Amino acid sequence: MTGLFSIEGFPHKGWFFVDCEDVEDCREICEACGSQEIRYVHILKHPNFFREIRVGSECARNLCEGYNSAEIERLTKQKYNFIKSKRWKTSKNGNPTIRKNNYRVTITHTFNWNFVISSAYLPKEIWGNNFATEIIAKKAAFDKLKEIEEKGNA
Ligand SMILES: [Zn+2]
Repeated sequence: MTGLFSIEGFPHKGWFFVDCEDVEDCREICEACGSQEIRYVHILKHPNFFREIRVGSECARNLCEGYNSAEIERLTKQKYNFIKSKRWKTSKNGNPTIRKNNYRVTITHTFNWNFVISSAYLPKEIWGNNFATEIIAKKAAFDKLKEIEEKGNA
C-alpha cells in the first residue's frame, strides 16, 4: 500500500466533493489507497490538506460523510455524454451549439469561455461567463440545464 492513507496526518474523515471526472481508458490509480484502478475520478478537498485528491468511489465513500458515489457517477456519465455529444454543431458565428430538450446551448469565446442557454420556455437568456476552457464551459452549461429542468419540475 503506497496511497495517501499510509501517510501520517492524512485526514481519514471530513472530505468534501469537488468534482467527478470520467477519464475513460486513461485509468488512474486511486490516490488514497494507491491500489484501485479508477475510471470515475472523485475529486475531493479537505480544510486541513494542502491540495485536492483524486480517488475512487470506494475511498470517496470512506472519506466523505453520506457520500452517494453511484448518483455522482450517474450524473457524471450524463455530463460527459453531453459534452462529447456528436450533436454539437457550429453556429453561423462559428460557435459550438447544441439543442437539448427545449433548450439551446451555445458556447462563446471572448477572453475566456462562456455559455448561453436560450429557450422559448425561458423569460431571457441565461449566461455563464469566464470559464478557463471550452470543456469547463460545457460542464457548467450542463449543470445549469439540470438546475433549470429541476426547477421546472418542482
Ligand atoms: Zn482507493
